[in-house]
Amino acid sequence: TRVVTPGLVYDPEQLDLNTANYVCALISKSRNLYDFSAIEASTGEVLVAKNISPGQVMTWCQKLCPREFVVKAGFELFFDPQCILSYSKSLINSVDEFLTDYVKETQGEEILQTLGTPRSMIDNCLEISEVCAKHLELFKNYDGDDRGALFYAVNFNKTPMGARLLKSRLASPFCDLSKIHVEQNLVEKFFNDSQLLADISVSLARVGDLERKIVKLSNSLCNARDLQGLGLALEQVQSAIKRAPGFFHHCDTDICHGLADDVRRILRDELPHSTKEGGMVRSGISATLDEYVELATHGQTKLTELESRERLNSGIQSLKIKYNNVFGYSFEITKSNLDRVPQHFVRRQTLAQAERFITPELSDLEQKILSSEQKKGELEFAIYEELRKKILKEAMSLLKISRAVAHLDLIQSWARLAREKNHCKPSFNDMGELKLVKSRHPVVEQNSDVIFIPNDIQIEKGGCILLTGPNMAGKSTVMRQVALTSILAQCGAFVPADSASLPVFDKVFTRIGSSDNLSRGLSTFMVEMTETSTIIKEATENSLVVLDEIGRGTSTYDGLSLAHAILEHFVTEVGAVVLFATHYHELTELPAGNSKIKNFHMSIEEYNDELIFLHKLKSGPADRSYGIEVAKLAGLPLTVTTKASRVLKDLVLKAEKVHSKQMTFEEKNEPDQQLNILVQKYSSALNAIDLNTTTPMSALNLLASLKEIQ
Ligand code: ATP
Repeated sequence: TRVVTPGLVYDPEQLDLNTANYVCALISKSRNLYDFSAIEASTGEVLVAKNISPGQVMTWCQKLCPREFVVKAGFELFFDPQCILSYSKSLINSVDEFLTDYVKETQGEEILQTLGTPRSMIDNCLEISEVCAKHLELFKNYDGDDRGALFYAVNFNKTPMGARLLKSRLASPFCDLSKIHVEQNLVEKFFNDSQLLADISVSLARVGDLERKIVKLSNSLCNARDLQGLGLALEQVQSAIKRAPGFFHHCDTDICHGLADDVRRILRDELPHSTKEGGMVRSGISATLDEYVELATHGQTKLTELESRERLNSGIQSLKIKYNNVFGYSFEITKSNLDRVPQHFVRRQTLAQAERFITPELSDLEQKILSSEQKKGELEFAIYEELRKKILKEAMSLLKISRAVAHLDLIQSWARLAREKNHCKPSFNDMGELKLVKSRHPVVEQNSDVIFIPNDIQIEKGGCILLTGPNMAGKSTVMRQVALTSILAQCGAFVPADSASLPVFDKVFTRIGSSDNLSRGLSTFMVEMTETSTIIKEATENSLVVLDEIGRGTSTYDGLSLAHAILEHFVTEVGAVVLFATHYHELTELPAGNSKIKNFHMSIEEYNDELIFLHKLKSGPADRSYGIEVAKLAGLPLTVTTKASRVLKDLVLKAEKVHSKQMTFEEKNEPDQQLNILVQKYSSALNAIDLNTTTPMSALNLLASLKEIQ
């Protein structure tokens, strides 16, 4: 009996190669503190985070996307885990032991041999929220497909372990400059050595999912083909080790050779699916097994040999070996030859014309023939089990090798990406300045339908690019490419630009596009404001903030006012590096009052009434948004766009009239207004005089003060 739960699946064929499959557990420490643990049972990874806040629990859930959550019976989750919830009765208090216990209870003891030592989840990494990962299409595009996402565009890994490491690296890039430099230098080495890159790719391409193959050994589903697959993978790993030994310094690499050799020596080339019916072990491994095999396959020949021998020895020409379901094998001798029956023959059965005899040798042969198939199966299973357990004992060392393979693969993947897509090695500065020369969007530039126009982007520490320009001009693209470039750089990768100098950011935030979350009771505008409010609370002066069209989900004036206030807040209060795209052209006046904000626009040209998108970032504000022209391009019926043009003209005229009326009204009324104010001041001063108590002297003083009112 096997217990299968969503988070405890071992069969690589049932899992997505590039995605980890976590079962997580949560226990409560005090009112607002929790211990959290995650196990990737198919790869042996164990993660732990202790004393974390509910917010941090949510962040880890967003990053790991658990398939199953285990809690103690009676524990109430404070969020929707969006996966299967399991309960465990265990009384153990440490969260990793609690989860390990659940895994052991459902999967058996052997699984423990493939679980690594718990690793702390609280790393110093670039924080990217789930919303931000979604907006930046890190792992899926907006339609939920892989194609069009960053992961798909930059995954040049040859093994599933490398791909999974890439995924987790993109979700949590480094913040530690020394770690970034280590990765960068490795990538550079491979980038500069095309022969090394080619050789490593060839070796890694044949390794397959080493990690999951190792862990599968602890599962009851494992069979000889799995051992063979693991053996072949280990052989391939050896050639990778030879070519890049530096990655395997801390590993026991001799083990690969020894185990791969055992597998090749013991197991046959063609293997059955079942482990119980023999056909797995080569001849020459066990003398007893060879005898069983011999008997099972050549039993009949042995019987004929014995028959001829006894016939010759006894001189009875009619002596025959017969088989009977009740008595088994026996020598049959006709009645006329009974006087010549040899001494060692023992009577078994008397028939009308003959008698049947057995000998110890025939009984022995019979027993061997009849049980050889079964014994052969049992012995082969024992040999297979011995081999499986021998490898399983080394699971921890093998998993360490597998992690080194994943790292090597990721490095070659970054190097290949950089070579094929002309990426450059970025540098980091501690002035907080971002400077990209001929920067490109790593995903859009791979679209063969697009001739990508590179852009230069420079933002000082705490600076803001206020980006205006027509619809479709490339505002979102250029802003996202800055965020994606920073993420890639902090992963230790090269970036899509001719040169890049960046600060090390602590967090990346994005607020892009409109979406509602009706299932959680949030309207489009509410989602926009909730996300913006989170960014305002969490961003620091070391963060990168990308805000696209803030304030679009409400009335024009409400939206404009909010956009104005939010932008100012980021620049004056937060001091983050901000990219802010807007169609509110009124905002382009902000830079006049704040030197940190710089106007930029995406340029276009109008030619014969047609718009040509240049996708070029230029300094200064755009004149307008060309919404109606873009709507025409999108195929809106002419009647609609003509009407829209007329409405626009009227609106502009009306606005101009109101403006000029306001002006003349203000001009005409200005003296009257001043007079009114003066009259009000006099009348209130006069009303305040009490004539009954006023002396001549105080009357004079009053007159003097009235004269001073203007
Ligand atoms: P809107 O204001 O309507 O949201 P936008 O200005 O944000 O538009 P984007 O969505 O960034 O425009 O880009 C529109 C299209 O232009 C994209 O489909 C993209 O393929 C193309 N594009 C953007 N930037 C470039 C570029 N630098 N070179 C080539 N094509 C580009």
